Amino acid sequence: MDDDIYGIKKWGDDILEVLNNGNIGLKNPFYPSNPSIDLIKIVKSLNERGISCPVLLRVTDYLAFRIKQINESFFKAIKEVGYKGYYKGVFPVKVNQQAQVIDRIVDFGKEFDFGLEVGSKPELLIALAHDLSSESTIICNGIKDREFINLAILSLKIGFKTILVLESPRELDLIIEVSQELNVRPLLGIRIKLTNKVSGNWSQSSGDRSAFGLSVEQVMKVIKKLKSYNYLDCLVLQHSHLGSQIPDIIEIRKTTQEACRFYSEMCKQGAPLEYLDLGGGLGVDYTGEQKSSFNSINYSLDEYCINILETVKYELDQSNIDNPIIITESGRACIASSSMLIFNILGTTNFDSEKKQELNSKDHPLLKNMIQIPEYLNLERAQECLNDLNYYREEIRALFRSGQIDLSNMAKTEETYLYVINKIKTVLSSTTEITEELQDAIDNMADIYHGNFSLFQSLPDVWAIDQIHPIAPLQKHNKRPNRRVILNDITCDSDGIINKFVLKEGVSNTLPLHDVSDDEDYFLGVFFIGAYQETLGDLHNLFGDTNVATIKLKENGGFQLLHEQEGDTISEVLTYVEYEPKNIINRFKHIVEDAVRSRDLSLSERKKITQTFKDSISGYTYFEK
Ligand SMILES: *Cc1c(COP(=O)(O)O)cnc(C)c1O
Repeated sequence: MDDDIYGIKKWGDDILEVLNNGNIGLKNPFYPSNPSIDLIKIVKSLNERGISCPVLLRVTDYLAFRIKQINESFFKAIKEVGYKGYYKGVFPVKVNQQAQVIDRIVDFGKEFDFGLEVGSKPELLIALAHDLSSESTIICNGIKDREFINLAILSLKIGFKTILVLESPRELDLIIEVSQELNVRPLLGIRIKLTNKVSGNWSQSSGDRSAFGLSVEQVMKVIKKLKSYNYLDCLVLQHSHLGSQIPDIIEIRKTTQEACRFYSEMCKQGAPLEYLDLGGGLGVDYTGEQKSSFNSINYSLDEYCINILETVKYELDQSNIDNPIIITESGRACIASSSMLIFNILGTTNFDSEKKQELNSKDHPLLKNMIQIPEYLNLERAQECLNDLNYYREEIRALFRSGQIDLSNMAKTEETYLYVINKIKTVLSSTTEITEELQDAIDNMADIYHGNFSLFQSLPDVWAIDQIHPIAPLQKHNKRPNRRVILNDITCDSDGIINKFVLKEGVSNTLPLHDVSDDEDYFLGVFFIGAYQETLGDLHNLFGDTNVATIKLKENGGFQLLHEQEGDTISEVLTYVEYEPKNIINRFKHIVEDAVRSRDLSLSERKKITQTFKDSISGYTYFEK
């Protein structure tokens, strides 16, 4: 079977492929001709080490590769368009602040003078604790208090290139004050508010009503103030950021052009600008559709780089202004592909049945009609059969409620319903051309597969903003899937479902999967989740952080486990909600003690109950085998 139902070749070609044994393999992007590494083997080997599902798998090679790709693509574009400046990217820390991630970004980025972008004091502290290359920058966005400014300015004394980007005119007074107190000149940037509004999920970051950046009048005021305090020579950077995941390349061109207009006007006012920072926004093609939509983009990385450099060169050459150093703050595009969530299926709720129901003389006439539906079922009459089926069941349910049908007839009715549904699904599976109403009806009869993960902890954007991440089974790609399912997580929240999936032919409301049996694990992978998901996740139902494994693919096959981070224990999540684990154990002991007195509990029973409680509190919050 080789028809790539899940569209892996469309969205995952850089990192994944289907192996001959039907399992998914991880490709090594640095050695594309080497055999891929069986993901099931990786998961089993992690399990043997005690790292059980759900597990977040970080593949460092994918991060290293993307950093290299983004930088090299800009270098290539510089040559191609004859750009007379450089490119020096930064990674926006908010996109993934985890120590294991930032350490590696700094490490992989060193050869490219890759820096960091921070938006808060904690993020600034993270940046300052890293050995960045001396030519890289730390870009400070966000609202800054005296402490933030103090630290940023002082860091210049120890060799960091820390640039304070003004988010509002207010900040300038404080910066000048602190700089005079410390007697250190700051490096300054201005965040401008572009009037071009972009589309996509984050469009409110752009345009007149954006909460960020300075309007034209404010820019003018700030320049005047800088001049009057003799600080204009400190203004080295212009910043703009339009929001994440910009779907359309035209918008990137237009906004770059507008940014250049500001840049040249500010230069004409005497600002010695060197850096043009165009923010984040480089998108990820989650669905592989290559189109301008929320979960896709209509451009390639090379196109993005060329479009930016071409626009900047053209606009600034016209005004005789030196080509600036270009900074971009690509978070999502840098990190998304390097993490995947892997979980096992705990059980299924099937919405059809293969068990044929036989006619019986004692059956209610309506039930008899229902049992006979398959006799006239064919493709043309599928909708009619479904209508009949629903009608008869409604009627019989009403009779049951009013006491005119007994439990055994009612049970037979429900079983017949599932059997006829199965027959209808089979008839419809022979065609792709079915009406919207029938398709909806079929989607509503999809099975529910219950996964060992929390949507709220591991995939918060799927819940909050309908982000679509590609999902595929890790095994059985050589067997045609026979079920259509939606996924349900382990929380008790009806919102904990996934019902949008990436398939080869486009986005679908159901995911084709295989039957699962009790004696064999069935694993699913959710891909491209490295950006934003980890810190945005929350503790709904007190499901905590999952286990995390960071691996490196070996050149000659196999993998190396670089780091493992155990997921939250129950005791840890309890402390997040103000419980003291020791206290809780003591409280439980008191309750058991009372039971010993009042309920005739034996001492050995007491010991067993207390021990079970204690064992639980140090365990994983997810389903364990
Ligand atoms: C969030 C953010 C980014 C990252 O955007 P991506 O689309 O993930 O690249 C960059 N810069 C600023 C100022 C941000 O707020």
